[in-house]
Amino acid sequence: MQVYGLIGNPVGHSLSPPMHEAAYEATGLDARYVTFEPPESEGAAAVESAATLGVRGLNVTIPFKEQVLPAVEPAPLAEQVGAVNTVDFGTDPPTGYNTDAAGVTRALTHHGVALAGTAVVVGAGGAGRAAAFALADAGMAVRVANRTAERAEELAAAVDAGPGAGATAHGLDRLAEVLADADVLVNATSVGMDEDVSPVPADALHADLAVLDAVYSPVDTRLLREAAAAGATTVDGAWMLLYQGVEAFERWTGREAPVDAMNDALRARL
Ligand code: NAP
Repeated sequence: MQVYGLIGNPVGHSLSPPMHEAAYEATGLDARYVTFEPPESEGAAAVESAATLGVRGLNVTIPFKEQVLPAVEPAPLAEQVGAVNTVDFGTDPPTGYNTDAAGVTRALTHHGVALAGTAVVVGAGGAGRAAAFALADAGMAVRVANRTAERAEELAAAVDAGPGAGATAHGLDRLAEVLADADVLVNATSVGMDEDVSPVPADALHADLAVLDAVYSPVDTRLLREAAAAGATTVDGAWMLLYQGVEAFERWTGREAPVDAMNDALRARL
């Protein structure tokens, strides 16, 4: 039997176990997905221990996404983002991926969204970094807007210095302006999780936009409702969550993921 799993602290709330177990069942893979909760400063040690124990693959969540970097060889995008959420033990040293980045691009392309033109990423935390680097890597010009201006500037400069398309930084007060000719909008803030509020003024949304909200709890956010009312294409955060899991499954097993089975298991729990 193969063992995969997740390290985080806490991990009790995670939707990854049912999603991955559904994939094993659908593909007939003799595998289990287990959650581990190491002490808060022991991310790298946990990865090393998992390798010793013969674990095939690990997902990594808060607070370990940066901590595990010394224990892995990061793939180029993970190195740029500066965070790893998937470790593949099939290589020596283990390879660290950032499948949140793939989650953004694959969720959009699943909905027929072309990764061309200009993307506005609102937020400059972990999800914002993954989205900005992923979209620039796909060839989109990226505009980063964040509440704390310095974080937007720092992220835009890092993306701009990378191999992908260019990036610029903007304040949240300029959202209407930066969205006017944009093709894609990603909300990578936590705004919309605890309250029914949107980080983007409704009148800045338009029919030529595709809007991905990284927030998946709730799935039906105010931003997405207002985007749909403006005629935009909408992609909810569960698609991003699904495709980061799909990407991890495919990296670990080399098999095509059973996307529908994983999606059903995820949506049943949201
Ligand atoms: P994070 O690193 O803590 O970053 C939070 C971001 O939200 C920062 O840019 C922060 O701005 C901004 N923010 C927080 N409160 C705000 C407010 N009241 N007004 C404006 N901006 C505000 O968090 P994260 O890990 O990036 O996660 C962000 C969201 O993405 C969460 O809802 C998380 O669940 C979701 N997420 C989803 C997926 C998925 O697969 N769907 C994956 C990862 C994350 P400052 O820099 O100014 O503090």
